[in-house]
Amino acid sequence: MTLYRARVSDTPVSPFSGGTLRADSDAGLLVEAGTITERGPFAEVAARHPGEDVVDLRDGLLVPGLVDTHVHFPQVRVIGALGMPLLEWLDRCALPEEARLADVGYARGVAADFVSGLVRAGTTTALVFGSHFAPAVEVLFEEVRRVGLRVTTGLVVSDRILREELLTTPDRAYGESRALAERWHERGRTRYAVTPRFSLSASDAMLDACASVVKDVPGAWFTSHVNENLAEVESVRELFGDSDHYVDTYDRHGLVGGRTVLAHNVHATDDELALLAAQGAAVAHCPTSNSALGSGLFPLRRHVERGVRVALGSDVGAGTGFSLFKEGLQAYFMQQLLRDEGLPLTAAHLLHLATRAGAEALGLGDTVGDLSAGRQFDAVLVRPEPGSTLEVGLRHAADDADAVAKLFALGTPGDVAQVWVAGECVTG
Ligand SMILES: [Zn+2]
Repeated sequence: MTLYRARVSDTPVSPFSGGTLRADSDAGLLVEAGTITERGPFAEVAARHPGEDVVDLRDGLLVPGLVDTHVHFPQVRVIGALGMPLLEWLDRCALPEEARLADVGYARGVAADFVSGLVRAGTTTALVFGSHFAPAVEVLFEEVRRVGLRVTTGLVVSDRILREELLTTPDRAYGESRALAERWHERGRTRYAVTPRFSLSASDAMLDACASVVKDVPGAWFTSHVNENLAEVESVRELFGDSDHYVDTYDRHGLVGGRTVLAHNVHATDDELALLAAQGAAVAHCPTSNSALGSGLFPLRRHVERGVRVALGSDVGAGTGFSLFKEGLQAYFMQQLLRDEGLPLTAAHLLHLATRAGAEALGLGDTVGDLSAGRQFDAVLVRPEPGSTLEVGLRHAADDADAVAKLFALGTPGDVAQVWVAGECVTG
C-alpha cells in the first residue's frame, strides 16, 4: 500500500449536468494494488493508517490520467504540417507516412515515438487509430503493453480511394482483424477497435466485414471519422447517395452503438445528432486538428443539448501535439468564437472533457476518469519548473478553479512530472 499526499483536482460529476470541480488542497489517497481504496483529508486517512509509506506530492498538482479518444499512431512524425485542408493533407502528408509502416522495423520506431508522446503528455488511456498494416498494429500493441498504458486500437481498413498500398479486401480485413483481436482484445489493458478509415474509403462490403468483426469479437469497439470537412461530407454524399447522412453510412451496418466513438462531427445534422444520442454513441472532439485543417468550429452546444456524449481527442498528426491541456484550451477558444452559438466552458468543463468524459466515452467510467475511492490510480502530477509562467500562475492562483484554468492555459508536456497507470509509474 502507498499513501499519496497531494493537492488534487478532478470532476467526478459532469459540469455539463450540474457538477463542479472537486478540489482538495491536502488529500490523502490510499492505493492498494493499483486501486484507490480510500480518499479523504490527508490527516484523517493518515490517522487510520499509521506507519504507511507516504509519498508527498504537494509540490505539484495531481489530476486524473488524461484520456485521448482520437489519436493516430502512424502520424506522430508528421505533426505540424500546416496550410492544407483535410483531403489534401491526407494525400500529401499523412498517407505517404502511413504507407511507410509497411516496414515493420520502421513501424516499431514509430510505435516507440508514439507511446512515449502519449506518456509525456500525461495521457494514460487512449482510443488509437492504428495502422493499415497488421504487423504494425501488432508492434503498437506490444509497445503499449511494455509501457503499461490503457489503449484500445485496431487495424485501419479501406478498400477504395486511398493510395494502392493502403487498400485491402473485406475478407483479408476480417481475417487480420480477428487474428489481432484474438491476441490483444481484453488482454490486460488493451482492447480491440474495429477501424474503417472513413466510409469515404470503405465500401459497403468493407463496412459489412467490419460489422462481422464487431459481432464476432464480443466487447469490441468501433471507431471512425465523420463529418469532418465540407468537401469530405460532399464526397460521401456523392458516393452513398443523397438519402443518407454520413452517420447513416455506418449505422445501416449496425456500427453505431454504445461502444462507438466517431471523431469530429463538426458538420452534423440534427438527425445525425438524434441518432447518435439514441444509440449512445460518443463523439471525439478534436479542436486543434479542426483549427489547423480549417475544418470548422465544433457545435458543442448542439451535441450537449441533444444528449450526445462528447470527449476530447488530440487527432495527432493533424492535431498539433499530444497535450490534452492544449486541446482543452482550443476547445474553449472555439466556443468563445462561436459567440451566441457557443457553449461557454469553465476550467471544470475542460478538466472533465480531458478526463472523466473520455473515460465514459470509452466505457471505462467505473475504472478511471477521476480520483475517487474505487478507481484505479491513473494520475498525472503537474509540477512546472520553478519560475516558469505556469509555476508562477499556480502559486498565485485565486482558487482551485483558477489553478485548473491556468493549467489548461499554460500547461505543456514539459510540465508533466510523473504519470501513473494502475498505481505503476510509467514515466520511469
Ligand atoms: Zn483522425
